[in-house]
Amino acid sequence: MKVTLKDKTFALYLREEEILGNIAEIGKRISADYAGRTPLLLGVLNGSFLFAADLIREVKCDCQITFVKLASYIGTGSSGEVRELVGLAEDIRGRDIIVVEDIVDTGLTLEKVMDTLQKHSPASVKVATLLYKPEAYKGKHKIDYVAMEIPNAFIVGYGLDYDGLGRNLRDIYQIVS
Ligand code: 5GP
Repeated sequence: MKVTLKDKTFALYLREEEILGNIAEIGKRISADYAGRTPLLLGVLNGSFLFAADLIREVKCDCQITFVKLASYIGTGSSGEVRELVGLAEDIRGRDIIVVEDIVDTGLTLEKVMDTLQKHSPASVKVATLLYKPEAYKGKHKIDYVAMEIPNAFIVGYGLDYDGLGRNLRDIYQIVS
């Protein structure tokens, strides 16, 4: 099955049932790892909204959820684009944080999130991601909970977009052309 979004064509890659099955597995692991604690899931918007919604329903210990966003703007210094974590409303000092990402590609986004979180002295920080591209990853942080590893190709669906489109697709699609 194929879909076209703007000028690009995508082919069916991962079905909803497989996605949800894999999310249930990491939900079980999180439930066991955090038994007796109350982790705070920290979803990184926009792409993680469906994953966060499905993941939290698979977590059987007490837990809480909040969302942050990375705002991009062009800085005045030499570094060009600046990405800043916004919306961290909760007090995360002393909390067990699980960062919930849609996809870890190069790992730059994750690094920015982790650097910011560490300044707020959480008790622990782990990372859960729906998708992980090991071939592209250049980061230093361990990715603790991975629902699915994928090759280095652009995908859409299940919350992930191409130019704002495709987030509503139930399955995940891979770019063809
Ligand atoms: P990173 O900083 O790890 O290189 O990239 C992470 C961000 O880039 C993700 O949160 C996502 O917004 C975007 N991204 C990376 N790969 C893909 C992809 O294959 N499809 C979509 N839709 N977004 C991607």
